[in-house]
Amino acid sequence: MSSIILEARDIRYRYPRGMEAICGISFHIRRKEKIALVGPNGAGKSTLLTMFNGMIRPDSGMMLFDNLPIQYDTASLRMLRKRVGFVLQNPDRQIIAPTVYQDVAFGPINLGYPEKEVKEAVTKALRHVGLDGFERRPPHQLSGGEKKRVAIAGVLAMDPDVLVFDEPTSGLDPSGSEDIMELLDELNHEGKTIIISTHDVELVYPWADRAILMLGGKILHEDIPEVAFGNPESVRTAHLSLPILLELHRELQKRGFLLPGKKPRTVLDMMHCLETLFENSRSHTRQGIITVCNVDMDNQEYLSEWLSMHTGICIGAMGTRAKLSAENSRIHLDFTYGVIDKCILKALLGENCLILTAESMVKRVYQRVDAYGEESGVHIPVHRLESEPGVPDGKNGGVP
Ligand code: ADP
Repeated sequence: MSSIILEARDIRYRYPRGMEAICGISFHIRRKEKIALVGPNGAGKSTLLTMFNGMIRPDSGMMLFDNLPIQYDTASLRMLRKRVGFVLQNPDRQIIAPTVYQDVAFGPINLGYPEKEVKEAVTKALRHVGLDGFERRPPHQLSGGEKKRVAIAGVLAMDPDVLVFDEPTSGLDPSGSEDIMELLDELNHEGKTIIISTHDVELVYPWADRAILMLGGKILHEDIPEVAFGNPESVRTAHLSLPILLELHRELQKRGFLLPGKKPRTVLDMMHCLETLFENSRSHTRQGIITVCNVDMDNQEYLSEWLSMHTGICIGAMGTRAKLSAENSRIHLDFTYGVIDKCILKALLGENCLILTAESMVKRVYQRVDAYGEESGVHIPVHRLESEPGVPDGKNGGVP
């Protein structure tokens, strides 16, 4: 179990001339967790988030970072804000400089980095969010999604341990929202603790490690999403709706269908439930193969050649770098979100798939396919692109 990075001990807060916004809250967040604060408008989510980097100080109780009480003097807050990055809901309020470069460089310059390190940090952060080449662009000319990425790059440039996002997908279209959630996943996979606020249940249900349901400045319930959202009473009390997969699972159970104990988080989980019901439906289908291409390392020329020999294959790209690489190589993508599960679903239908991804996420493909194999008994072969065709890596997609 990872160590605790943030903790609240019975905190309360009342805005000057306002009502009590946080009414006695305690919780802890572990390193590398993906946490979603979920609740209706006015529940206190934003107020709570702003306490994580000391923007608001509780009237009573205590906030701790890395097991130490947060100190509110200027020097301590400066250090805290290097380690806990905050991305505001509205990027227009966060972006202040006339060019993308200057904006992203603002944090590192403020922290006193030498010029060379500032440049490196900005280049790395922009690359991370898929905005290479945007350095000289004026932020006000960018799309909503691009502005959001600039704001995220500004925070990433300080290389924080924790990233806090107030309503990260607000104002974005569905595909922009998926891109941002995917980026958050990627950052989490690289070791960052991610905390978001939202009222979008469908968005966080498959994403979060833990959901904290809030209402009226209090925590109603906190648990893994299938439990936190699994009680229709607390979901209704929090003015939220049941995730559609949980609702479907409940309706099937009510009708006496015997489903596996684990509640479905994804469409793939749901398919597993249904296939357990109709045991024979897939017994005649040979599983397809999932091939993984690491866009950071695998030979891109070989990829083009390979694709010309595998026309009609389903292709998914995970993460910003992989999507950019696909765009540059004019590769048509069938999946850009929830890629591993979608490829497993295809493989279950006997179709072969290719996943383009960056080095940091390759392992994740193997882990997810393996976990699915353990759970369902259906082992889908996974190859690395450079492997000999027909020879899977490891046991059945064993982690390389
Ligand atoms: P959420 O993020 O869940 O929508 P907020 O944290 O923004 O909720 O708000 C919690 C409560 O605090 C609400 O009742 C809201 O009206 C109040 N509030 C938020 N900001 C201020 C403020 N600057 N001054 C006074 N009251 C505020």
